[in-house]
Amino acid sequence: MSVVTQIVTRCPACGAETFHYTEFLYEAPYYGNLVVSVGVCKSCGYRFFDVDYADAGSPTRVVFKAENGMDVAKSLLVRSKTGSIKSPELGFSLEPGLHGEPFITTVEGFLMKTIDYAESLRALEPESADKVDEFIRKVQRAIEEGGFTLVIEDPQGKSLVIPWRPETVRVEHLDNTQPDIASTVGDRAPGT
Ligand SMILES: [Zn+2]
Repeated sequence: MSVVTQIVTRCPACGAETFHYTEFLYEAPYYGNLVVSVGVCKSCGYRFFDVDYADAGSPTRVVFKAENGMDVAKSLLVRSKTGSIKSPELGFSLEPGLHGEPFITTVEGFLMKTIDYAESLRALEPESADKVDEFIRKVQRAIEEGGFTLVIEDPQGKSLVIPWRPETVRVEHLDNTQPDIASTVGDRAPGT
């Protein structure tokens, strides 16, 4: 990872000249060169995070299979504002329109967030509390033991999983003529 840009500039939130902004060039396995942008304002605490391809992005589907608790705790999930995340086994899906902010977290951190979200739903809809409790138990078990899949689709190919074990992730290039063939390191879709 190398630093491309590092500046202190005007904060987009409060306007103070205390916004520390850094761009890193990150060579990610499976994905090619990524530009990761991070900013934090020392005055108001505003934070910025974004991730982009150094080259033009193309639609991807990332399939991540967590087989044990270490895969959950140690794998990183990068979600751009255009990414959707689904888990068929856990029974949820997060669409880009809702809660569309980009984030980077561990898979465990992401599942903890879905538990927080479920708990806020339970407060709003007490009549569905049993269903929500069942969902939360399922997600808690998934955090400890794995045994689930995350399917992350992104029309701009900017959402990704940086896996603890390489064999747990598969990247499909959706504009490829053979989308079901897993790509290997350095194998990019034509035109990207
Ligand atoms: Zn600020």
